[in-house]
Amino acid sequence: MSTATPQKFEFQAEIKQLLDIVIHSLYTEKEIFVRELVSNASDALEKLRHTQLTEKDILDDKAALEITLTTDDKAKTLTIQDTGIGMTRDELVENLGTIAHSGSKAFLKALGEGGAKNSNLIGQFGVGFYSAFMVAKTVKVYSRSWKAGEPGHVWSSDGSGSYEIEEVADLSRGSKIVIELKDECSEYAQDGRIKDILERYSAFVSFPVNLNTKHINTVTALWLRSKNEIKDEEYNEFYKFQSHAYEDPSLRLHFSADAPLSINALLFVPQENTEKMGLSRLEPAVSLYCRKVLIDAAPKDLLPEWLRFLKGVVDSEDLPLNISRETMQDKALIEKLNKVITKRFLKFIDEEATQRPESFAKFYAQFGIFLKEGAALDFTHKDQLMKLLRFESTLTDKTKSTSLPDYVTRMSSEQKEIYYLVGANRAALESGPYLEAFKARNLEVLLCYEPVDEYVMNNVREFDGKKLVAADHADVKLTDIPKAEGALSEDDTKTLTTWLKESLGDRVAEVKASDRLVDSPALAINADKFMSAHMRRMMKAMNKDGADMPQKVNLEINPRSAVMKRLFETHALAPEKAKLVAEQILDNALISAGMLEDATQMVARLYKLLETV
Ligand code: ADP
Ligand code: MG
Repeated sequence: MSTATPQKFEFQAEIKQLLDIVIHSLYTEKEIFVRELVSNASDALEKLRHTQLTEKDILDDKAALEITLTTDDKAKTLTIQDTGIGMTRDELVENLGTIAHSGSKAFLKALGEGGAKNSNLIGQFGVGFYSAFMVAKTVKVYSRSWKAGEPGHVWSSDGSGSYEIEEVADLSRGSKIVIELKDECSEYAQDGRIKDILERYSAFVSFPVNLNTKHINTVTALWLRSKNEIKDEEYNEFYKFQSHAYEDPSLRLHFSADAPLSINALLFVPQENTEKMGLSRLEPAVSLYCRKVLIDAAPKDLLPEWLRFLKGVVDSEDLPLNISRETMQDKALIEKLNKVITKRFLKFIDEEATQRPESFAKFYAQFGIFLKEGAALDFTHKDQLMKLLRFESTLTDKTKSTSLPDYVTRMSSEQKEIYYLVGANRAALESGPYLEAFKARNLEVLLCYEPVDEYVMNNVREFDGKKLVAADHADVKLTDIPKAEGALSEDDTKTLTTWLKESLGDRVAEVKASDRLVDSPALAINADKFMSAHMRRMMKAMNKDGADMPQKVNLEINPRSAVMKRLFETHALAPEKAKLVAEQILDNALISAGMLEDATQMVARLYKLLETV
């Protein structure tokens, strides 16, 4: 549809919300809007370069691919023009009037989740185009699509609820953004101020950038330069430019390789894990280049999924030169790249862990969850990833952690398995009955507090040829330790366990004497092979189906405990009372195991028992 008169549109509600936040000074560093607009211009040029590979009928096909900024001190305007892909009328509405694109969407989602209070969180997002409204009275976007036959338009808005679109004659291909600055932001109409800003990062733009007819940047790909020539600030500026970040990265890895593939890679780990903050799943963000030319800004298979938190650039000369996003089907090549980079990154993290444990701990606190995901799901890198995992253990101090290789060095020659126990926290696990047996035998148990740990351990199954075994699993077999004095005899124990099974009926699958107990009178073991007690608790908490199936419980008793010796006497003399005691012992054991699902009967019974005292 072509219209001669301006047409007015309302911004989508989310955009209004976003604009409101942007305009009311979310960012102290207003100058980032220049970076955002230059980066959009660069994206538009990059898209045109790709379009040229496949399309013939391109408007102004011979126009140079470049970005031009113009300041006008008197009129207080800043103009940013590109010869990129441009936008049709519909695209103007779609791209600038709705929240269809990723950066701002994630930002809003974060705000919706209470992120506005977290200034760190805000630092994780670029609000892209809308950042112009931090400094603008009005913004006009003149744009003409590369599609020959599409007319040009001007989109304009003052950042309050609406915008207008009007057809404009005689535009050349690309976009020209004219910002009429607020009085207090007139500094951005000065050549010197913009030059300062551009000099910091325009070198990372792979197209010529001009300011007031002067050429500003020499296009040098930072990742192709030699490491010892590059300053930290240059790396940090590049990271911020490339990943739209507002903070420096926490780690970086810059490396090159010649065999089996020629690779130059520059990878960054951000400060924070936004997934951990409850935001949406991260998308791949390491861009793929071939000799400085962008092939794909977000290739899906360049890295394994668990490395989706990485930012940066991979450049390989071995990619076919004319490759485009659509034709990037050379799976084998991408797989090879994937392998080399992943291996190199793992080595880097491993060095970090051994040589700079504090830095590693900081990394692990944020991104350890991704290492766990990898250990559970990435069969190729499982072993290396397992080495990087950290857990507290019964031998570490609170909040200090240990690794599986370290655990293994502490194993005695008789110990064949690696033990772990999953639960909410250290106190909960230590007050439970499961650890005593291991303590008594000097066996170390890893203490796992994260919900995914159980899944990871189940998937991994073994480390260094040793089985990973849950300490509360029914199948755990521990070596005998000498029987303490004064325990019930074997016959008496047998009588008692048989009686207990009869008295408790269906509530227990099996009752037997325990070789795990040292101090506690009894413990309950979840005998369900398919569902651990911890998993059951989680399912219950989430109201999942299956959580209310009857539980299968084994009761193990301690023939050395005074309670059991007394019960053995009582069961013959006062069977009614003994039955109440037996029920109570089972409930106590279930409580310790976190498996008691309904305490009402227990309370009633306890009063009955108290009457008999
Ligand atoms: P992002 O760059 O993260 O997608 P922006 O808010 O910066 O988000 O831009 C929104 C969208 O507007 C872009 O995805 C793009 O489609 C379009 N756009 C912005 N600037 C330009 C431009 N100079 N040329 C063509 N399209 C543009
Ligand atoms: Mg952008």
